[in-house]
Amino acid sequence: MAIKAEYIWIDGAEPTPTLRSKTKICEDGTTEFPIWGFDGSSTNQATGDKSDCVLNPVRTFPDPIRGGDNVLVLCEVMLVDGKPHPTNTRFTAARTAKKYKKHEPLFGIEQEYTMLRPNGNPLGFPDDGFPAPQGPYYCGVGEIAITGRQIAEEHMDACLAAGVGLSGINAEVMPGQWEFQVGPRGLLEVADELWVARWLLHRIAEDFGVVISIDAKPVKGDWNGAGAHTNFSTKEMREDGGYSYIEAGCKALGEKAALHIANYGVGVEDRLTGAHETQRYDQFSYGVSDRGASIRIPWQVSVDKKGYLEDRRPNGNMDPYVVARLVTDTVCSAMK
Ligand code: ADP
Ligand code: MN
Ligand code: MN
Ligand code: MN
Repeated sequence: MAIKAEYIWIDGAEPTPTLRSKTKICEDGTTEFPIWGFDGSSTNQATGDKSDCVLNPVRTFPDPIRGGDNVLVLCEVMLVDGKPHPTNTRFTAARTAKKYKKHEPLFGIEQEYTMLRPNGNPLGFPDDGFPAPQGPYYCGVGEIAITGRQIAEEHMDACLAAGVGLSGINAEVMPGQWEFQVGPRGLLEVADELWVARWLLHRIAEDFGVVISIDAKPVKGDWNGAGAHTNFSTKEMREDGGYSYIEAGCKALGEKAALHIANYGVGVEDRLTGAHETQRYDQFSYGVSDRGASIRIPWQVSVDKKGYLEDRRPNGNMDPYVVARLVTDTVCSAMK
């Protein structure tokens, strides 16, 4: 049987890039997947007269949807001259990963997202008006309207079968909103796997007639937005005496707050209002257990005096190559 290789890449959509993929039939037994091309003029990555862009495979995963020997092939987009395409954020992330390798950065990213019906309403929202206010939905079960669990479960199984380093899932604060976490993983690994997990989520939701949104504030008003809390540690933070490194990391992030905010996803100002478990986008703070801070030091970490910090600012629609690169650069460049 021939192998179906699903080549996945990130497009040039503005303001927020989206995922694309197409299938290549490869000979049975193929393990090395070749570079391939696509029409960049259809993905906002090229003009019609110079439309060819190159897909450069960087990682393969067993395909949990098609099963068998079929694979998902995550690609970087390159120009025909072999240079990285301007939309290729993985390329610079790889440089940072290499530069700070000795600090062994680890990331756990919490991807919040919203399941929408074709009319654009979140699952669990009536056609007109709103469901009962937030409160019972977060980690809820039964009785109250928890919707979309079957999609979240199938997605979790698919991630595990693909080898995506999932660490858990939960129902979120707004109806129709869920979360999965990828990590702890290295800089490139967490970002690669988060993109593949997003692809699997969109793909599985298709079969249910559901649209997945990673929009930061899918419902205006008194409803939680969707974030991508980014948990981060270095080797030094994880070792005994690591707490001073965690505090130093928080301070370093505070000094570059504006740069980070500008790269944490479209609409970050609408989500980081100071309400709904956020700090304002134009203020910076860190604190133990504080879900109203920019950076939270988890309670357990303050007890153990080592561990990790949680950057709560990134939006659900952020690019993990950009966020993980920036956090690593900012924290590690400030280390002695
Ligand atoms: P929250 O309480 O904020 O909802 P979650 O349990 O959803 O936290 O997510 C925490 C994430 O942090 C998980 O993905 C977990 O794997 C990750 N994590 C745990 N330890 C570390 C560490 N030392 N470095 C980086 N990430 C970590
Ligand atoms: Mn969480
Ligand atoms: Mn959450
Ligand atoms: Mn969190």
